[in-house]
Amino acid sequence: MLGIGALIALLLVISLVLLIVRSVKNGRQPLAQEPETTALPTASPMAEPTSIPATPPLTIQADWYRERTEQLYHNLTTYGNYKDAAAVYAALEQMQIDPNGKKLALTFDDGPDSLITKQILDVLEENHARATFFVKGAYIDNNKELIRRELGLGCEIGNHTMNHEDLEKLSPAERRTTVGELNDKMYQLFGYRVHLLRPPYISYGKKDEAIRNDIVAMASEYELAIVNHTRSSHDSHEDYTAQMMIDRVLAEKDELGRGLNNAILLFHDKYQKTADAMKVIIPALQQQGYQLVTVSELLNCSNEGLHYGWIYSKAD
Ligand SMILES: [Zn+2]
Repeated sequence: MLGIGALIALLLVISLVLLIVRSVKNGRQPLAQEPETTALPTASPMAEPTSIPATPPLTIQADWYRERTEQLYHNLTTYGNYKDAAAVYAALEQMQIDPNGKKLALTFDDGPDSLITKQILDVLEENHARATFFVKGAYIDNNKELIRRELGLGCEIGNHTMNHEDLEKLSPAERRTTVGELNDKMYQLFGYRVHLLRPPYISYGKKDEAIRNDIVAMASEYELAIVNHTRSSHDSHEDYTAQMMIDRVLAEKDELGRGLNNAILLFHDKYQKTADAMKVIIPALQQQGYQLVTVSELLNCSNEGLHYGWIYSKAD
């Protein structure tokens, strides 16, 4: 009995040795094979992101568009709520701009507001639309989640000063403090560089050349384009209802005869009626064929282009 046991053990050893010899002959060291096999389970999910490119082929061949798409990719992957690389890719595809198509920019001032901004972001997300938020710097710390969501949805953030200051009433140094602080805060908290300034009360020295020159110089120093608006929704008018806003915003021409193409529309993400009106306005504009792009995208697509220190009320 013992002899048979020993024979079986010997046979096992021999076959093992033969196996090793064969694999060495095939140039495959059994030991070296090990990492390969253990790496397999992690290798397939790791391989997934590289199986598709990070960003889709660009519809506009320009440096600004490539940089904008890289920035969007970064913001979507860092702050967005996408389940995998394919979902990010699909979202970026949805954010592509047809340079020959109609487009306009929705802008929201004075937020973020914990109640209203959330509702507006819900409507934007549902409709795959994007907007520009001119935030008040003092509100950022308590609303970081909303800023993250704005960035994760591909929206743009602009500067509306730290405390909604009237820039015309400040000294040159004070102007630089309130504008610079907001830019620094956005960079420190989110690694985000702000490139748009909307002075509260549209106060950029319209009637005072010296003040205007200083505000323009400051905007250039801080790499900001100054953004007015083409059409206001009048949501800050107390007697204006959501329906009146809808009618006004969707009217083919405004009182100056200007249409909606290349327009910058003004809203405030602090009124319930504004959030209510967006549920109608956003799908209606898309139905009319408008691409809802950010202000920087709208200006970059225009003949003038986006220039720091320039004052814009629409994209020409
Ligand atoms: Zn404001």
